[in-house]
Amino acid sequence: MSAAPDTLEAFLAALRPPLEFVLRSPRVRARFPAARLRERGRELARAAEGECGRLLEELCGKLEQCDGAADAARLALARECLALIRRIEAAGGGEAAPSPEYRASAGDAAQALKLLDRPVQFAHGVGPRRAELLRKFGIRTVYDLLFHLPFRYEDRRAVRAIRDLVPGEEACVIGEVTHLDERTVGRKRRSLLHGTLRDSTGLLALTWYHHAAHYRARLPMGRRVLLYGRVEVGPDGQRRMLHPEVSLSLDAAGQGIVPVYGKPVGISDSAMRKIVRDAVDESGQLVPGRLPAPVAAAARVMTLADALVAVHRPDAAADVAELNSFASPAHRSLVFDELFFLQVGLLLRRRACAGERGLTMRVQGWRSEAIERRLPFALTGAQRRVLAEVTADMTGGRPMHRLVQGDVGSGKTLVALLAAALAIDNGFQAAFMAPTELLAEQHLATVEKAAGGAGIRVLLLTGSAARAQKEQARESIGAGEVDLVVGTHALIQEGVRFDRLGLAVVDEQHRFGVMQRAALQALGANGLAPHVLLMSATPIPRTLALTLYGDLDVSVVDELPAGRRPVKTELFDEGRRPQVYERVERELAAGHQAYVVFPLVEESEKQDLRDATSMARELTRTVFAANRVGLLHGRMKADEKDAVMRRFRAGDLQVLVSTTVIEVGVDVPNATAIVIEHAERFGLAQLHQLRGRVGRGSAPSVCLLVGRFSPGDAVHRRLSALVRSNDGFELAEIDLRERGPGDFLGTRQAGLPDFRVANLLRDSRLLAEARTAAERWLAGDPELRTPESAALVEVLRHRWAGRLGLAAVG
Ligand code: ADP
Ligand code: MG
Repeated sequence: MSAAPDTLEAFLAALRPPLEFVLRSPRVRARFPAARLRERGRELARAAEGECGRLLEELCGKLEQCDGAADAARLALARECLALIRRIEAAGGGEAAPSPEYRASAGDAAQALKLLDRPVQFAHGVGPRRAELLRKFGIRTVYDLLFHLPFRYEDRRAVRAIRDLVPGEEACVIGEVTHLDERTVGRKRRSLLHGTLRDSTGLLALTWYHHAAHYRARLPMGRRVLLYGRVEVGPDGQRRMLHPEVSLSLDAAGQGIVPVYGKPVGISDSAMRKIVRDAVDESGQLVPGRLPAPVAAAARVMTLADALVAVHRPDAAADVAELNSFASPAHRSLVFDELFFLQVGLLLRRRACAGERGLTMRVQGWRSEAIERRLPFALTGAQRRVLAEVTADMTGGRPMHRLVQGDVGSGKTLVALLAAALAIDNGFQAAFMAPTELLAEQHLATVEKAAGGAGIRVLLLTGSAARAQKEQARESIGAGEVDLVVGTHALIQEGVRFDRLGLAVVDEQHRFGVMQRAALQALGANGLAPHVLLMSATPIPRTLALTLYGDLDVSVVDELPAGRRPVKTELFDEGRRPQVYERVERELAAGHQAYVVFPLVEESEKQDLRDATSMARELTRTVFAANRVGLLHGRMKADEKDAVMRRFRAGDLQVLVSTTVIEVGVDVPNATAIVIEHAERFGLAQLHQLRGRVGRGSAPSVCLLVGRFSPGDAVHRRLSALVRSNDGFELAEIDLRERGPGDFLGTRQAGLPDFRVANLLRDSRLLAEARTAAERWLAGDPELRTPESAALVEVLRHRWAGRLGLAAVG
């Protein structure tokens, strides 16, 4: 047996391996830590002073408890010990050591990742049935489970007296159910459950909107129960709790801060909580962080493993508000970690691209000229400038990776079409991908009109085409009989092989995942990547866009075609709806067309909102009885949508009642009015996009926002920004500031990479920090020679390769 370590430093170093062993293999029994080590700890504790001595005492206490503790307890103790060691080091005892997972060798990381990549069925409490449910929910591996963060935390540290409940807050109460009453209401006969809870301080009304029967069965009259929920003021002025969670075992009180997880139907909240908790206990410490130590220190972040444990099992002393806004130190650490790796990946990819050989084209042929000559208008200065930038890329010998940003209606399509003509003039094919079939159809019409006389062979390929048709399309694309393919996702999904793809255009690219870019590049022939042109009207604030699209060149079409008049925007509270429709009728009487947009497709049980389907019926009967009204929403079949859109475009329908399917790209210049109902439900950026459906011709247009607000309230103030400003970028900035976390644009919708924890709009400050840190790191080790860099690339591959097409990195 080796001698007991004599310095504090050596003592801590000797302790770490056995503790880490426990974390890795919680079920293996070993006598630990050795008695000698524990005794040595006591001696050192007696000799140490101040904070350090106190922490050491605490550590020794925990070490002694470890012996003979049950698995779960041992695991928790080991984790606490490691945390104490770090605190002792921070307090000045011993050398600050790099995080444990960082010290582990590269082989260990690979081993750990392999364990973490095991199917979720290997997790505790997950059998085949749950594994299937989780898989469908998007949680496939243990790793996914660990990164499935709570979306909310409930503060169950204290039970509150009914008398002390404050509306607007969530609280835990214990009382006796004194009254229950299930009623059916409405045409659909849905049932509601009302109840009353009593404690020694007062009464509280309870309401459940769904699963009334379930809750009634769970609530025995007269028995004391524990409820958790949000307190509100009901219509009668009384406080009530809406949809409280019910627990019959009263010891759920004092559970501390309880995480709440998104979960598949079929797994209960508490079961989901337990599954994640067990996975964290068992495997949380295995997650390799690999953030280089100097980077972690400069950013003041916790190790990835510690951060994961802290977000899943928050300390009883944690700040719930901070947790709920994803702003706790642990959240911050997770986000920084994720963004740092993303930025390193983007920077490496950008570097790799700069060295690649691309298809070199020349300005030649006649098609672009022919197209331009036939236009009924001249290109704007901005269109001309951006086209010159694109042309320079395509003729420059390296593959183009350019993002063209431009507000709605700035004429991006034309720029893309002219770039396609350049490729075709050079004997290549071009692909034009749109996010919806609706938009693809529309582009096809535009392209056919503009390019018809230019001898360009065009073809449409969408997912809803018949199999035989797709087969034939694939063949002619492969045989080079088509110059320009306009399509949707199908372009990537249907296994299309181009004969000689020279340019891939992705319209409204924010609607696609970033991954598509890589897939597009793979469509190229002979290993030469096609030029890639991405277009977006998503008004992501400028700084954010530059960082986010860190591997792209960016052009901005910052000018609208001449003669456009800004859309006049007005706000109406719901009481003034008649004026809104009068205004629309005036437009229709003048021979123009109108959109009426609703947030929902169909009537919903959950929300008291107007929906497109019933309102289309209603409006046809009433206000617009004299007009032809069409209905359009995302759940319709492709050919139905198509038919409606075609009739609207042809002017055969005067009014189009729709959902937000028309949000992007739809271009019908004769439409001069758009009504947006429940405007308060949308973000400014989205409203701006919707508003962009009008004002596309030369006639003045109006955007009429109908909402629930009263003059001067927050909603009214927010929506007023649209009245004032027509600048998408400005509106986006306001949106981000005012609506704050998470609300601005959903990650998916924004087409941002599929983050596990970060939200680029919420975490923009950290993003900038991560970007700088990544640049610094790569500047310090450009050849990726240090072991830190090697480890970093390994983790980078694991995390992002699949999602960002970073396979070529490193
Ligand atoms: P977005 O940038 O939103 O994709 P589009 O490309 O759909 O905009 O163009 C919007 C409308 O403006 C289309 O009807 C298009 O024909 C028209 N347009 C494009 N460029 C010009 C221009 N230079 N002058 C006038 N109208 C133009
Ligand atoms: Mg467009």
